[in-house]
Amino acid sequence: MKILVINAGSSSLKYQLINMETEAVVAKGTCERIGIAGGKLTHKANGKEFVIDKELPNHTEAISLVLKELVDKEAGVISSMDEIDAVGHRVVASGEAFTKTTLVTDEVMEIMDEIAELAPLHNPAAILGINACRAVMPDKKMALVFDTSFHATMPDYAHLYAIDYDDYKQYKVRKYGAHGTSHKYVTGAAAEYLKKDVKDLKIITCHLGNGSSISAVDGGKCIDTSMGFTPHAGVPMGTRSGDIDYAAAEFLCRKKGMTMEEGLTYLNKKCGMLGISGVSSDFRDLTSASEQGDYRATLALNMFSYACKKYVGSYMAALGGLDCIVFTAGVGENTACVRRDVLSNMEAFGIHLDEEKNLQKNDGTIHDISAPDSRVKILVIPTNEELVIARETAALV
Ligand code: ADP
Repeated sequence: MKILVINAGSSSLKYQLINMETEAVVAKGTCERIGIAGGKLTHKANGKEFVIDKELPNHTEAISLVLKELVDKEAGVISSMDEIDAVGHRVVASGEAFTKTTLVTDEVMEIMDEIAELAPLHNPAAILGINACRAVMPDKKMALVFDTSFHATMPDYAHLYAIDYDDYKQYKVRKYGAHGTSHKYVTGAAAEYLKKDVKDLKIITCHLGNGSSISAVDGGKCIDTSMGFTPHAGVPMGTRSGDIDYAAAEFLCRKKGMTMEEGLTYLNKKCGMLGISGVSSDFRDLTSASEQGDYRATLALNMFSYACKKYVGSYMAALGGLDCIVFTAGVGENTACVRRDVLSNMEAFGIHLDEEKNLQKNDGTIHDISAPDSRVKILVIPTNEELVIARETAALV
């Protein structure tokens, strides 16, 4: 069985064709500048990279070009479209409308339109991608895999905000979380690596990238996560503030003469690591600036690690114990000093990092970086969100 995984953005479309027998990526690529002059497809298959410069006025043209490449004589990996058994689409937000992977139907797409406002930067783009695929492959089974599904198991007392309950009921304003496919992947991979049944494990998964979220997972089920109604919440991120007193945000808006919308853009794009350091949102730049003695870059890194540490501590309390901590995504997989600082001084809780193992370079495999006497296992696991989307799609169809 072969599954085509699609991750559509407003002007880009990423894809992977995955062979489910081996779980190997057969081909993958990205369409860039959709709807903007200078469209381009970069397609990787058969050990080669193929770059096609072609105007891509809309997502339908983009997906048509992708399918053409997949069956192409030189760049192709399948002889006909019939070899694609189903398509799995990544969708950022499901609201309360969908709590699990769902087959695409006309009714489902109507609901998707209704909930698009929950993730205005992401869901409308996903809808464009799904509609384009439906236009080009009308008979193909398609599944929607939601980033929020993994967090649907959070109990009410964890996912609700303390607002008027009737407003929650009417507007569905509550925590939904994010990066769910990544948290799900590393949860399963950790259990497999530790040769334990996931039902017997209490795990804290730290997806630390440009956007970051931390989840508490009990017996394979998410019981809490750091992101909220939107990805603005939780630890500070590349350019996002993360958790902030809402009255401080309103005060800043007044002082800087920003509308609420401008204030949100400010908190989303100009704050976080970039705002504090004044150097960069990129952790590679931050660590090198910090090594050269830059005070604000060091401060940004310290704020990030401290915020992560507090989530780890609070989730240990929420879980009532801990067996394993997982680091994943760009920063979690590659930035040793962040892992060191997040877990420093936690020996009293059974968490003991092996400083030398922690310095091992990311080679795309799982690393156990816990010291031999650490009661809690500390793992670095490269994430694989596309594989979760493919697995979920295959299971559904
Ligand atoms: P997102 O998917 O949220 O855009 P990523 O998970 O790709 O983000 O993480 C990007 C972050 O990971 C950047 O801040 C980057 O500096 C950091 N990072 C650190 N080391 C590496 C590395 N060797 N390769 C890629 N990203 C790295």
